[in-house]
Amino acid sequence: MRSFTCPACGNLLFFENSSCLACGTAVGYSRPDRALVALDGRRRCANAAIAGCNWIAGDAGPLCDCCALTRTRPADGDAEEAFARAEAAKRRLVHQLDDLGLPTDGVVFDLLSSEAEHVVTGHASGVITIDLAEGVDSHREAVRARLAEPYRTLLGHFRHEVGHWYWEVLVERAGRHDGFRAVFGDERADYQEALREHYAGDPDPDWNRSYVSTYAAAHPWEDWAETFAHLLHVRDTVQTAGAYGVLVAGRAIAPHPDAPVDAEPAEDGAGFDELVDTWVPLSRAVNQLNRSMGKDDLYPFVLAPDVLAKLRFVDSLVAGAGRAEPGTVR
Ligand SMILES: [Zn+2]
Ligand SMILES: [Zn+2]
Ligand SMILES: [Zn+2]
Repeated sequence: MRSFTCPACGNLLFFENSSCLACGTAVGYSRPDRALVALDGRRRCANAAIAGCNWIAGDAGPLCDCCALTRTRPADGDAEEAFARAEAAKRRLVHQLDDLGLPTDGVVFDLLSSEAEHVVTGHASGVITIDLAEGVDSHREAVRARLAEPYRTLLGHFRHEVGHWYWEVLVERAGRHDGFRAVFGDERADYQEALREHYAGDPDPDWNRSYVSTYAAAHPWEDWAETFAHLLHVRDTVQTAGAYGVLVAGRAIAPHPDAPVDAEPAEDGAGFDELVDTWVPLSRAVNQLNRSMGKDDLYPFVLAPDVLAKLRFVDSLVAGAGRAEPGTVR
């Protein structure tokens, strides 16, 4: 995440701010500018109260461009806190997709609560379903423990599920099956059977030589989605470190020359080695900082050489899409 600046007084602002705590100026997030701008008569998103949305309303209606991507949501009065948490995670997601140059055309979200009906978090042809109960700490932590996962967050779900959509865009529609299969294996393997086997048995003890998570080992589609999510984890966290001047014995994080705001990492292929050289010492240091506070590791994962090769492949496709004309994906 970038750092932001008050347009009136220059004070440091954060992505979630709706006013400057130093000078009181009302601000909102402008998607076209990817910046916090003075409200100055602009309309706030109609979800400002219910979802804590600090984005400026779009041209077309009462909602901002990000909230407008939500196709289904609970009725007013149902699961409001969880809905607000999900929308907050989604704003971070959409901001990062914009930063990476990945178009969001074709993606919609169904935000539903499994407390009211049967809901399975997942993706189908651009429709992303998120179980809002994942925003309830007691529920999410219970599921995490039952599945023996080292990490489970709402933002992680959004990044994983949207990864399935970008597989369709960057691999399927772009005809890059051969390149994909060389790195991830053959996705024509029976998906339902693969998931059944995954949930029925114990993971291969050597899974972390080839996969970033045990779930990634279930099927090449899940491996891609997990790897895509990790690319977003790493890019966001390295960008945040750059924005706040945090460097841990890694190489300098060079701002992208075309970046409209500071701290966007380079996104060409050459940037990948630099990204990893920055990320590995940074993640180790931040893990230790977390342990100092009695928290679990921030990044409880190992990036083995095979996993890095997968990340490099996904990064190259994302970077290619980001360099294409706005609105197109090569
Ligand atoms: Zn200010
Ligand atoms: Zn909004
Ligand atoms: Zn998945």
